[in-house]
Amino acid sequence: MIIEQEKKDEGILRPYDAHKYDAVRTDNAIKVCHECNSCWEIDIEANRNNKYKTIYAWYYNFPKYGKKVETCPKCVNKNEVA
Ligand SMILES: [Zn+2]
Repeated sequence: MIIEQEKKDEGILRPYDAHKYDAVRTDNAIKVCHECNSCWEIDIEANRNNKYKTIYAWYYNFPKYGKKVETCPKCVNKNEVA
């Protein structure tokens, strides 16, 4: 399985550690975007100051079956700008 992440204006690159993700969490969190044909997930991370930041991660060559279909923020922004 190849996992690739992108740093975008609205996203923050984060290290992917497969050992931290169990299958159940992954299945629930990851969605499929038909626009860019990738799987993606959104995470909210809280820091020590109780400020939240939104983190997006894209997974290519990821199994898509059984995933919820939802256009990813990257493609939503692209469509709005265009
Ligand atoms: Zn997309």
